[in-house]
Amino acid sequence: MNQIPPLDLTRQFKEIGEEMTEAVSKILASGAYIGGPAVQNFEQQFASYIGSSACIACNSGTDALFLALRALRIGAGDEVITTPFTFIATTEVVSAVGATPVFVDIDPQTFNLDLSQVEAAITPRTKAIIPVHLFGQPIEMTRLMAIAEAHQLVVIEDCAQSTGACWREKRVGNIGHIGCFSFYPTKNLGACGDGGAVTTNDATIAALIRSLREHGGSPTNRYYHEEIGVNSRLDAVQAAILTIKLRYLDTWNAQRGMVADRYDQMLKHIPTIALPQAPVGGQSVWNQYTIRLTEATTHVYQPGQLESPYRDRVRSQLQAQGVSSMVYYPLPLHLQPVYQHLGYQLGQLPVSERVSQEVLSLPMFPELTPEQQEHVVSALKDSL
Ligand SMILES: *Cc1c(COP(=O)(O)O)cnc(C)c1O
Repeated sequence: MNQIPPLDLTRQFKEIGEEMTEAVSKILASGAYIGGPAVQNFEQQFASYIGSSACIACNSGTDALFLALRALRIGAGDEVITTPFTFIATTEVVSAVGATPVFVDIDPQTFNLDLSQVEAAITPRTKAIIPVHLFGQPIEMTRLMAIAEAHQLVVIEDCAQSTGACWREKRVGNIGHIGCFSFYPTKNLGACGDGGAVTTNDATIAALIRSLREHGGSPTNRYYHEEIGVNSRLDAVQAAILTIKLRYLDTWNAQRGMVADRYDQMLKHIPTIALPQAPVGGQSVWNQYTIRLTEATTHVYQPGQLESPYRDRVRSQLQAQGVSSMVYYPLPLHLQPVYQHLGYQLGQLPVSERVSQEVLSLPMFPELTPEQQEHVVSALKDSL
């Protein structure tokens, strides 16, 4: 059996490569490479897919979060509540605008913020909450929005891993005040390079983000500047590719759902594996299928160290049998060297610390076959 990668984008290209190549050729021939009709068209279609009134495309998911914070005037002296169990981009931008991330522990079943602990972290300096719908799994947005409203906080949804996921009847990115999306190639809607987008129903914020993404120029005169912006635009080639892929997104997400169901069935009887669980009312889009190896917890965790000997042994045995797995994320953000100055102690956010030793993401992509999954599962059983 060939190597099973964590993600195989070549199969998607085989499916729709011709269509993509044709669209890219048109852009190349058009001479309009940045902005222009291809970007506007994608922005309209993405807004309508998410259900929001505005979409502003930009250069990456990281920039989408950065632009959201800038537009909300969050900066020095402000605190932003978020999860330590996410990719660094979520909090990098909080630090980049001069604000301070405040970490709240997670729920081990969903990997998302533990909402019962959010209120205790709110201070007079708190301005926003950034929930991350991690691995494609939506957080309980109704409960989160109630907490935010009670304390007059804004909610910026980090939807980088959850394009198309729903909480109750709504898509994520259209429930908080601002939604931030990444089109990094491994995300559910991936470009052939970097890309990102912000969604919002607030016209003032939308206009401000439009200006900020293009050097802070005024909408009527791009060489008139009332504030310092950045250069964060989406290329026309990427917009054209994303417009095509958006038409397939629901199908691909449904296929991911079937892959997840099959894993659930194959793995549910193994007592030392905990399966990922979405909250009731949430529809995951399975950017990752992440299990927890509950045997991995015996190791004493050291700040700044990434070790989890049991999990690492399982992982290398899987690799030896041709199965590539990934670890998202081996060291929670509150223990990262870069946040040492914030003074978090080992043991302070115990669930994130334990979970980061236990997690293992199995191969997950829409085209993964049942036969490949059987091989993944039998290799996993052999490795435990
Ligand atoms: C990928 C990712 C980002 C950043 O997106 P980029 O497009 O890579 O900049 C932010 N947050 C989370 C949770 C992500 O997974």
